[in-house]
Amino acid sequence: MSRQRDFRRVFRGLRFRLTISYAVLFTVLLTGVALTFRARLASGLDNQIQEELNGDWAAMKGYMRIEPVLDFGNRICSAWYYDGDDPDETTIVLDTRKIYLVADQFGNPIPDSVTHEPSVSTAYDDIGVDKPADIRKKVLEAVASPKPKIFWEDRKTSTGEPVKIRSGIVFSEGHGAPYYVAIGASYADNVKTLHAYTWIFAGVIPGALLLGSLLGYYMAGRALTPVLAVAQAAQRISGSNLSMRIPTRDAGDELDYLILTFNRMIERLEASFQQMRQFSADVSHELRTPITAIRGQLEVALFTAQTTDQYREAMFNALTDIDRLSQIVRALLLLSQAETGQIVLQKSRLNLCEVVDDLVDQFQIPAEAAGVRLTAQLPPECSAEVDRVQIERMITNLLSNALKFTPEGGAVTMSLQVEPQFIELVVEDNGRGIPTEHLPHIFDRFYRVPGQGTAPSPEQGLGLGLSFVAWIVKAHNGKIEVESTPGKGTRFIIRLPNEGVGSDTMELARQPAGY
Ligand code: ADP
Repeated sequence: MSRQRDFRRVFRGLRFRLTISYAVLFTVLLTGVALTFRARLASGLDNQIQEELNGDWAAMKGYMRIEPVLDFGNRICSAWYYDGDDPDETTIVLDTRKIYLVADQFGNPIPDSVTHEPSVSTAYDDIGVDKPADIRKKVLEAVASPKPKIFWEDRKTSTGEPVKIRSGIVFSEGHGAPYYVAIGASYADNVKTLHAYTWIFAGVIPGALLLGSLLGYYMAGRALTPVLAVAQAAQRISGSNLSMRIPTRDAGDELDYLILTFNRMIERLEASFQQMRQFSADVSHELRTPITAIRGQLEVALFTAQTTDQYREAMFNALTDIDRLSQIVRALLLLSQAETGQIVLQKSRLNLCEVVDDLVDQFQIPAEAAGVRLTAQLPPECSAEVDRVQIERMITNLLSNALKFTPEGGAVTMSLQVEPQFIELVVEDNGRGIPTEHLPHIFDRFYRVPGQGTAPSPEQGLGLGLSFVAWIVKAHNGKIEVESTPGKGTRFIIRLPNEGVGSDTMELARQPAGY
């Protein structure tokens, strides 16, 4: 059963399919080339025998006359004139006379002036002398033709030897009557050459095919080996060892590109796994702190508090920590809603200046407590169609960050400017700033710029604030930018479109910056 599966896997495998495609292509190509070549060879050989016969025809015309011969009862005869002592002439004439026929226009062979026998060679007899009716037809056709007419025929001798016949008409010099003359030559050698060629190719093609397929199979195997290696390496990578990478081969080919892409994907996965791990650790830490505190407060109340004030104080502290707890839970809930696209903007037209002014007022108390000067520069009126709750959350997050990261004696400024195309909101502080390498990540979920030292600094939150800000800006079809110089301060610039806002529902999971 498993062997059957192994076979099936081999046949479905890329290597096998590549080899088969290669073999089919090879077969078509080789057969095509062989057939074309054979056709050209056949026509070349045919031309060659025709040329030969054309030459013989010209020689024959030079040595043969058709005329009355007196000592033969004054009958028309075919007479050959050549110098019997000249070996060249003799060879030419004897060669021409090997396969030949001379007949009158009615198809009857005329006598030979020397032998007084009909002018038909025995070899011509062997291939079957033309019927008088056929000869008559040819003579009529040749006489009617404006150009000299040549007839070509392929015949076979009784032993199966192939013979090509060239025939046409010749006019008697004496009285100008047309006579039918045919000469022929064997082309058995040409047929043999063609057969030999066919056999060679019939043997070579399957051999070449087998060799080519084996080579193709080997090469496909070689080309695919690294793919298998990549697959095996990829299989070893799991959630617990995401730091593993597939080694590149430095070949600079498509496979290297695939490996690189794969490694980058693992890198991103590792980063998000790391973020999730960090998040779980942060959440449990964030939750544990208020829970431990609440427990402590309750223990105090239960075991040591005696007066009503002491009870009240313990309860008050426990409530404060419960507030912090519910704040975290709310953030988590909001996050899950954001991830499932459940947050719907409730837009209404309102005066943004009033919203900003109210918030800046509310932040005056914590600002004073932190020893930071908080000011606002606002125009008298700024009408915009926005979701009040979300815009307030956005400004709150930015202001609380600015206050959190600005030391005593610093300043935070919130300004608003109305341009024809957009409304610009700027939150600027002269606090500790953000190192350049962290700037691209601050809008990522759960990202917090590491504080000085190894322990997380107490002022750090869950790293969700700016992610929400980015989402809110995006949901309003706006843009957010950040400029920061470590030690000098940070500036967040938000531009919201002045006219109209985008879709009411935003699927948060699609936001690149997280929200
Ligand atoms: P958090 O809840 O930690 O404030 P945020 O998403 O609001 O999370 O901010 C992400 C990180 O960006 C913060 O941890 C902080 O290090 C940095 N950051 C944000 N705003 C400022 C700012 N005004 N000045 C300096 N650093 C800032």
